Amino acid sequence: MLLRRLREVMAEPAPAQLRLDRITVLIASNMVSEVCSLYVMRADKTLELYATEGLNREAVHLTAMSAGEGLVGLIATNAEPLALQDAQAHPAFSYRPETGEEIYHSFLGVPVLRGGNTLGVLVVQNRTHRVYTEEEVEALQTTAMVLAELIASGELQSLGGAGQEPAARGPLQIRGAPLADGLGLGHVVLHEPRIVIGNIIARDVEAEIARLETAIGEVRSSIDALLERGDIAHGGEHRDVLETFRMFANDQGWLRRMREAAKTGITAEAAVERVLSDSRARMLRSTDPYIRERMHDLEDLANRMLHRLIGKDPVRSRADMPDNAILVARTMGPAALLDYDRARLRGLVLEEGGQTSHIAIVARAIGIPVVSELENATSLVEAGDAIIIDGGTGDVQIRPSPNVESAYAEKARLRARRQAQYRKLRDRPAVTKDGVAIALQLNAGLLVDLPNIVETGAVGIGLFRTELQFMIAERMPSAKDQQALYSAVFQSAGDVPVTFRSLDIGGDKLLPYMPRIEEENPALGWRAIRIALDRPALMRIQARALLRAAQGRHLRIMFPMVASCSEFARARQLVQGELEWLQRSGGKVPSKLSLGAMIEVPSLLFEIDEIAREADFLSVGSNDLMQFLFAVDRGNKLVADRFDTLSRAPLRAIRHAVARASLQGCPVTICGETAGRPLDAMALIGIGIRSLSMSAASVGPLKAMVLALDTRPLAQLVDAALDDPHGPEVLRTLLAEFAKREKIPV
Ligand code: PEP
Ligand code: MG
Repeated sequence: MLLRRLREVMAEPAPAQLRLDRITVLIASNMVSEVCSLYVMRADKTLELYATEGLNREAVHLTAMSAGEGLVGLIATNAEPLALQDAQAHPAFSYRPETGEEIYHSFLGVPVLRGGNTLGVLVVQNRTHRVYTEEEVEALQTTAMVLAELIASGELQSLGGAGQEPAARGPLQIRGAPLADGLGLGHVVLHEPRIVIGNIIARDVEAEIARLETAIGEVRSSIDALLERGDIAHGGEHRDVLETFRMFANDQGWLRRMREAAKTGITAEAAVERVLSDSRARMLRSTDPYIRERMHDLEDLANRMLHRLIGKDPVRSRADMPDNAILVARTMGPAALLDYDRARLRGLVLEEGGQTSHIAIVARAIGIPVVSELENATSLVEAGDAIIIDGGTGDVQIRPSPNVESAYAEKARLRARRQAQYRKLRDRPAVTKDGVAIALQLNAGLLVDLPNIVETGAVGIGLFRTELQFMIAERMPSAKDQQALYSAVFQSAGDVPVTFRSLDIGGDKLLPYMPRIEEENPALGWRAIRIALDRPALMRIQARALLRAAQGRHLRIMFPMVASCSEFARARQLVQGELEWLQRSGGKVPSKLSLGAMIEVPSLLFEIDEIAREADFLSVGSNDLMQFLFAVDRGNKLVADRFDTLSRAPLRAIRHAVARASLQGCPVTICGETAGRPLDAMALIGIGIRSLSMSAASVGPLKAMVLALDTRPLAQLVDAALDDPHGPEVLRTLLAEFAKREKIPV
């Protein structure tokens, strides 16, 4: 009854404040309380009194307290109800004289939650030392759910002072982990659209309870059926996930809470949503990774229930995507990203996904900025919200204020201007002021990378990561699939050389369809060339696909993670065996076959003379080389800043490799991330590197750097610093000063 009256008041054409006032009167009388107050969470994380029945009306919009302050703050922080017989005896009680609340003893407050976020706090108070029953707490929580809808609708925005609007729909700035550089301005598209519950209030409580029971039963039996069917890989659902589902689906606590919520007079779907929101709020406050992981299971399960209850297919029509879409997702697979219309994508926001995740690799390849590790991001936004993401810093601006928006728009214009300047450099050869040619090449791995050759004017593909095709596929690519991709690469590349790297899987590069092997130290484990040598069929099939795709052109292949000359020799033998087979069977053989080794494992630095004699070329994989040189896990944020790529150890190591290899006439390229950063690249040129391979976005800035550079004073400076036993451990400042002096854009 109360819920229906609330709905009516909310729908009245009266001003928002008036409706809020009426709502508090209604709730107070329904709860038989003298006081009912609504506090709304502002963007600045303070809780402002928005309406009250019973306390001094003058305090409305005046009383504000920080989250964590007083009983109201405590409820907001813990996202849990609090019922007290004697509020003033509670240690968190904070007295606000303007409210006149000293005469009220008992206190019941509940958080106003939506999607696990606290939007406010709803309180009732009584003069007597009243004991609020569990049913009463439950009823107030249901009321709060209706109020959450009102706050989230944005109708209260005008009631807050400037800059103090309710947080629910106000500007919000958050920072995550930057995964792919770039600026994106646009509007939110939820990858998995939230199920919108249109109907909160039950017409017939018994009928809703029955609907809930049916849905519970159906979801349970569908999970059981999936588990029994045996082909549990179907639809990407793995057995352990389903087992956890089953556990939750039978969890009595969860079921009971949903049933209790339904008894308070809301629809079955609203009951599911409410319990999910409560649980999410609680789990978000937990630091236990296991509990947080379970939150996703619970969410998936709740979504299954909601689908059954509402019966709508969650897959949105891709056609109604805005022109400047910023996708917001909990997690996402690379194939799903490629399903979207690239022309309309401006960015991607993820709750989870690391630097080396496949989605990050694909997003970089298609050139959209990505920010990850934004907790609860999917619940902080609504579809269509304005949003800005900065993939360079990790900043995300949700519903930005006009000032912020124009600042970013200006930044985006500046970037575009710079990009236009880089484009003008496209056809200019990368030659330094003193006439040294530097080969600027591309790192690639997917079909979507190929147009970048023409767009950037790169002189080759210095690293084609063949494993990416394997990583984004749902099953092992066949020999035919592989050959088709390599043929397309040759076709797009035309005359520019391409260096294919043989499969670099294992370590952090897992294939979804390959059984996972538990290893204590996967980075040091069974990976890359080690797998290739132990499972030669894999390498043979790939070599054959490459040899065939070359169609008489020059074929370059390099092997990853080579730790010794003998490993290289064995890999070479495998490829040469395939070449001979092709020759014997009358196939078209490449005009030339060049085989190279990657320098990623420090041991190879101490066999540099031998490997330079054996291999046709070398390529330094600086990502892995740094990882092993400094013993710093490349994917671990905790240790990421424990070393500098411009310190003397790696610079000496690479200088040594280049110098010794050149004595044998063996060219050395560098293809890790350092090659794409102008200051790092400048240092590498200083120690003798003449070929760099990088992502498409780096080619322009690097060419601008090369064109402004004189290698002679640079080499002198770097050599002197590296040869001086008392020289600096880190050369960054020295190099930055040099660049500034010489007006080199880095
Ligand atoms: C590297 O290790 O530097 C490299 C280029 O290979 P990947 O990043 O693919 O491991
Ligand atoms: Mg590597």
